[in-house]
Amino acid sequence: MRSTFECTSNSRTRRRTPIIDVQSLTCEVPKKKSTGEQHPTASMTTYAVVGAGIAGASIAYHLSQRTDEQIIVFDQGDPASATTAKSVAQFGFYGDDTQYRMKRYGMNLYNEFFGDPQADPRYDFAGLLNVATTADGAAELEHAVTTGGDPDLGKVPGTGFDGDLVEYIPGPELPHTLLIPPLDTTQIEGALYRPKMGYMTRPAALAKEFVARADAAGVEFRFDTPVQAIETDGNHVTGVVADDHITVDAVVCAAGPWNRDLARSVGIDLPMRHTLAPILQLEPESPLEYSLPAISPYEGPYTIHRRRTDAVLVGYIPPNGYVRDQEFDPEAVDNTVSADIKDGMREAVAQFTPQFSNAPVADEWVGVRSQTPDGNPIVGWTAVEGFSIAAFHTSGIQLAPAVGRIIADQLLTDDPTEHYDALSITRFTDYTDHRR
Ligand SMILES: Cc1cc2nc3c(=O)[nH]c(=O)nc-3n(C[C@H](O)[C@H](O)[C@H](O)COP(=O)(O)OP(=O)(O)OC[C@H]3O[C@@H](n4cnc5c(N)ncnc54)[C@H](O)[C@@H]3O)c2cc1C
Repeated sequence: MRSTFECTSNSRTRRRTPIIDVQSLTCEVPKKKSTGEQHPTASMTTYAVVGAGIAGASIAYHLSQRTDEQIIVFDQGDPASATTAKSVAQFGFYGDDTQYRMKRYGMNLYNEFFGDPQADPRYDFAGLLNVATTADGAAELEHAVTTGGDPDLGKVPGTGFDGDLVEYIPGPELPHTLLIPPLDTTQIEGALYRPKMGYMTRPAALAKEFVARADAAGVEFRFDTPVQAIETDGNHVTGVVADDHITVDAVVCAAGPWNRDLARSVGIDLPMRHTLAPILQLEPESPLEYSLPAISPYEGPYTIHRRRTDAVLVGYIPPNGYVRDQEFDPEAVDNTVSADIKDGMREAVAQFTPQFSNAPVADEWVGVRSQTPDGNPIVGWTAVEGFSIAAFHTSGIQLAPAVGRIIADQLLTDDPTEHYDALSITRFTDYTDHRR
């Protein structure tokens, strides 16, 4: 079955969306050769993108703005119906220098999208509050600010981002400096407030914004169409098998937690693992009519944030990070939050936001987060010529715009990009790409 994203016409008329110049990625975005209607011909290059989550959608969008060649996106389900739909979708400035610059590109593009939206992802610009309940924890938060920062806490020393707003607030000062009535500050020793944080309320709509724009620029979307095989001839990609066989010049694998299996099918064992990401959605009886920063206990694995006036999300981030060999089949994962994690979530809510303690659970789900050993995504060329990868270490909502841009640079202009060393699979021992 072939389908087209419902928000847009199925017209093949090409529309140019100008991309604003960004400081983080240096070159100008080259424009497409023509804007006229295109029909595939034998001489056309065909790019296949597997996955229409935020990654595949961004890649399709970026390619579509710069080439008139054929671009086909396959998704085994609906667009953005997998990890992207389950995301908490925070956007904020932390991470290493590479991620920082990628996020600047993403923020700029999202500003453009939100200024002229076709879908409506909604954004809540709420800030983030890391709260420490021990004296040691509070001292570490304060230290991160006074010494110039820490990549995980929102300041990156020596990269030019040291000036970002990150404020340490002693626990007793919290009720005097921030208007957050639901926050119980009695056990908080100290907190780090990071105002440059927010989240998309409807992350799937964000991916659909990319889909709508790519569709308008002539990309062909095939939903409910699993890619069953990627064909190679020696060490080159030659085709994909979906509802039919298609000869292709390049495949971009943007299949979220399914990336591992697809890459394996062409002989690449990605250095990528999975963690489970459970979410509980509480619906307080009285609506919360003001925004609330996301509350992230420094010593604990839980996060609390208001998603809408009538919904609070409680998340869990496993404390053990990258677990070698840990892998889940996304289709086999139980979508119910386990009882012990649910209890821990309830305890965190009772401790920090007691007014939500008795709020009933309105929804719950479990996503599969992808992880890499060093916390950066794996982007671009691989050892198999024509097979590129777009795999995140979580953070896909924030990094997908730049990933789309990087893939387009590599495929269309053979430019490894300034991020090659930080993002290429070749940074891991025993991995090469076809260019090395
Ligand atoms: C609970 C949770 C909270 C998160 N919070 C944040 C956050 O606050 N900020 C942030 O930036 N990131 C966050 N993330 C991470 C972010 O959501 C992901 O990095 C991002 O959504 C991944 O997008 P993707 O397109 O790579 O994968 P997906 O959204 O999973 O898309 C992959 C697509 O590939 C398709 N597919 C797979 N196999 C095939 C095949 N054989 N043929 C055709 N199609 C196929 C699937 O159907 C799917 O639609 C969170 C994730 C979770 C689960």
